[in-house]
Amino acid sequence: MRRLIIETLTYPRIMLLANLEADDCPQNRYFNPDHPRCQLCQQGEECNWLNCNDEFSVLARKPIDVLHEALLYSIDYVGAQCSDDGHNVRRCACESCEWVRKARQISAEYLNIKKETFRALTERI
Ligand SMILES: [Zn+2]
Repeated sequence: MRRLIIETLTYPRIMLLANLEADDCPQNRYFNPDHPRCQLCQQGEECNWLNCNDEFSVLARKPIDVLHEALLYSIDYVGAQCSDDGHNVRRCACESCEWVRKARQISAEYLNIKKETFRALTERI
């Protein structure tokens, strides 16, 4: 499941990278929460996500809950892009809409596994 979530984060990462405007960014897209420009930047949230989830970060060592949070954020982000472009995420066959459907399914599976694990643990007590 961990590997599946990490792989699923590849698509929104590429999309975010393509969408972020870096031409006038003094930080060259390295989000710094202490930098006044980053604090005021409208793309701060996306940029921070990208920095936390880029291919150089140690995703494999992050707790699975953190990976799932990143997945939820990217579902909202990609879903919003699709809606802005007038797509019907439930039916559209484009790559982004298909990604959103698949990612939602993975998220639901993860939550289900988490619930079952919790139930198994509490039954033992
Ligand atoms: Zn679409």
